[in-house]
Amino acid sequence: MEKYVYSFTQGQADGDRSQRELLGGKGANLAEMASIGLPVPSGFTLTTEVCKAFYQHQRNYPEGVDGQVNAALKSLEQQMGKGFGDPLNPLLLSVRSGAPASMPGMMDTVLNLGLNDQTVQGLINRSKDPRFAYDSYRRFIQMYANVVKGVDGDIFEELLEGKKRIRGVEYDNQLSVEELQQLVGEFKDSYQRELGSVFPDDPQQQLWEAISAVFGSWMNQRAVTYRKLNNIPSHWGTAVNVQAMVFGNMGEDCATGVAFTRDPSTGENYFYGEYLVNAQGEDVVAGIRTPQPLNKVKYKQGDLPAMADVMPECYAQLLDNRSTLERHFHEMQDIEFTIESGKLYMLQTRTGKRTAQAAIRIAVEMVDEGLINEQEAVLRVQPQQLEQLLHPSIDPAAQKNIIGKGLPASPGACSGKVVFNADEAEQRNRLKEKVILVRIETSPEDIHGMNAAQGILTSRGGMTSHAAVVARGMGKSCVAGCGDLHIDYEKQVMVTKSGFTIKRGDIITLDGGSGEVILGDVPKVQPAVSGDFGRLMTWADQFRTLQVRANADTPHDAQVAREFGAEGIGLCRTEHMFFDVKRIQAVREMIVSEDQQGRKRALEKIMPMQKNDFIGLFREMKGLPVTIRLLDPPLHEFLPQNDDDIADLAAVAGIRFSEVKEHVQELHEFNPMLGHRGCRLGLTYPEIYDMQVSAIMEAACELVKNEHFDIVPEIMIPLVADVNELKVLRENVLHIAERVMNRYGVKVDYQIGTMIELPRAALLADIIAREADFFSFGTNDLTQTTYGLSRDDAGRFLPYYVEKGLFTGDPFVKLDRAGVGQLVKMGTEKGRQTRPDLKVGICGEHGGEPSSVEFCHQVGLNYVSCSPYRVPIARLAASHAALGHEQIGD
Ligand code: ADP
Ligand code: MG
Ligand code: MG
Repeated sequence: MEKYVYSFTQGQADGDRSQRELLGGKGANLAEMASIGLPVPSGFTLTTEVCKAFYQHQRNYPEGVDGQVNAALKSLEQQMGKGFGDPLNPLLLSVRSGAPASMPGMMDTVLNLGLNDQTVQGLINRSKDPRFAYDSYRRFIQMYANVVKGVDGDIFEELLEGKKRIRGVEYDNQLSVEELQQLVGEFKDSYQRELGSVFPDDPQQQLWEAISAVFGSWMNQRAVTYRKLNNIPSHWGTAVNVQAMVFGNMGEDCATGVAFTRDPSTGENYFYGEYLVNAQGEDVVAGIRTPQPLNKVKYKQGDLPAMADVMPECYAQLLDNRSTLERHFHEMQDIEFTIESGKLYMLQTRTGKRTAQAAIRIAVEMVDEGLINEQEAVLRVQPQQLEQLLHPSIDPAAQKNIIGKGLPASPGACSGKVVFNADEAEQRNRLKEKVILVRIETSPEDIHGMNAAQGILTSRGGMTSHAAVVARGMGKSCVAGCGDLHIDYEKQVMVTKSGFTIKRGDIITLDGGSGEVILGDVPKVQPAVSGDFGRLMTWADQFRTLQVRANADTPHDAQVAREFGAEGIGLCRTEHMFFDVKRIQAVREMIVSEDQQGRKRALEKIMPMQKNDFIGLFREMKGLPVTIRLLDPPLHEFLPQNDDDIADLAAVAGIRFSEVKEHVQELHEFNPMLGHRGCRLGLTYPEIYDMQVSAIMEAACELVKNEHFDIVPEIMIPLVADVNELKVLRENVLHIAERVMNRYGVKVDYQIGTMIELPRAALLADIIAREADFFSFGTNDLTQTTYGLSRDDAGRFLPYYVEKGLFTGDPFVKLDRAGVGQLVKMGTEKGRQTRPDLKVGICGEHGGEPSSVEFCHQVGLNYVSCSPYRVPIARLAASHAALGHEQIGD
């Protein structure tokens, strides 16, 4: 019979860490910790296979599961010397979910299971601590009702708050035995009122309903949303861990806590964590009381005593376990522990989530410490994560009106309008407004709002609070636990210590790296690749074969691109130069000219400016390849839209207003994306491309002649559908280029190539390659034309398609391998049949998206080209691809 249940106990376990798909991350690592001798409370894991079968059998269990659970429970009872449901000496259990991929806060846990009116007496007799026993009992009812039965947790919270109010105390650990006992009764009454049935006192029933609830929670809305945001497949299923309880709420020598083996925010090799005395379970992360630090080396939280001072022996053991775990896993760990009567237990370990900055520092320092090699270090940092580092930070020279300071929970600076709930954040985000989500604390219900916000601010909770963990995972900046700010949901305001009020809709800035909250929109500066980041990128470059270029239109873009490691420019869009305020008038004059003579006159004004642009670009790139695309967009994009501008233009061009206006209207197109643009313009108005080619070649000749460095301009013709288009335009380019070179008396190597951005061009790539020295796949247009959908109009329906699973993702973000990708692959192969040395790249948004970069590597492209700020992402993604490391995705 299939093995459905895997047991673990300190020193021995059926499973190990390699089995996370079967045992879930939590179960696999509990087994691993147990077998390397760490103090893990005994228990057993029901595998993800049980979960799959559960859903295949309409939420029933396959044969054999109950027998295996009973057997595992029997031996657990023996090990613990307690009986499950035994009124004299009861064994209590925790029932914990644990999926193969970590899903913090998504799935629920039930603690203290096995309590009823009889067993609670046994617990009192054994512990001699009725307060603890009733505290555990009321927690159990609360969690059971909420997690297993779906009763709104607020009902119990309110009863608890009510008791505290009557008693005039602040914290639940200040309630008396009698009050806790009363709460148990009140909780049971509420349970019955809400559900119409009495609270089950049969431990077996409790256990099975709890197990089923964990399996059931795999399909709850929160879990589904989280999986969607994180590309976790829903067929994986979750495991369930059943484990003997240890108690952190049994008095002052008890505690519960969480820690990271290194600082998850900066990556410093520093033991960071928080704990609470006399508390249980999620108390630390839920912000019930302000958690205390493990030690006081960094982040002091007020005068709260540190664990190192209060419980020095347990702290020393914890430090030991920290290094055991790091040496064993070769990775930064996120751990959960509980101390029962002075004895330390380890309850969980997993790879710790961290900021990109921390990921890099940890990877680099672990190489220096000999824990991992350079290749592993490169694979430790996910390309997409780098996005965080490529975000702006606050300009050090900026004036700052600081209104509060919290914990630096997730770095990066951001500004936006204050909103106090997740739904509003989402709504405003849809209207393209930038918002900061401000909450007292966040919970899994807020995920969609966190995702929509620029950054997150909370007034309560520590570095391991829900807000902090989720924000770091999302790469959003977050300031957590900012007690300086009093948040009032009802009035929709927050008030600073000095009494200043910030209203909903006011703009603030968060600095997630320092914890500062600042009034208004503060200037920010752009990031750089240096220090550890630079070292890691150098290692990454050793492994990759795909080149990375940047899309850059100006010398400034080119400079940024070079600083980020671009090996050339893959796309310079010349039209961006046309939009410059100083030039647009000449461009418009050209467009409205009646005849070729008029157009030529106007182009002569633009020519020296274009030439200067190219000189700047070539100089900046110091001999690296530069691909320049000749004019691409439809002409009417440059035209004035309102009468004032039309009047200005008429005056400059010396044409009548009505004539200009008429001309503007004539140029209107029904479908400009498929209209008079690209090489079609170059063919019908040859003087435009002639001017651009002259400008390119004169710039190159002058630099070669006067400044003596190599330049290989790559002249690129857009929107080719047929080889004849390219043939004519190529002739023109050759003609002009030769003429310019003769005039300067120098020889410049240059190439003439084309964009492949129409399906027809990909299909006929072998023929087109006869006239092209290189191909560049314009995957934005190629996606539009392959799908027959316009990116500018897709917003109305594309989100629906993605949500309903009709499309696996937005094809403008992640290259569609099945369709568009096939054209890329075919185009490349056909092109190289004709010309084996054909250089092939892509430009467009996809060039900086990790999964698309991986695909480009696999089909053998020479380079990808992306926006300058994404160059490091593409470099790392290309390196991962070369190392055969798969991106999560389709
Ligand atoms: P999550 O997946 O949300 O981290 P866990 O299963 O780790 O949920 O449970 C949450 C918390 O419950 C743990 O951090 C721990 O404090 C507490 N807990 C879980 N199992 C036990 C146990 N056997 N004894 C004591 N506390 C436990
Ligand atoms: Mg946990
Ligand atoms: Mg295009």
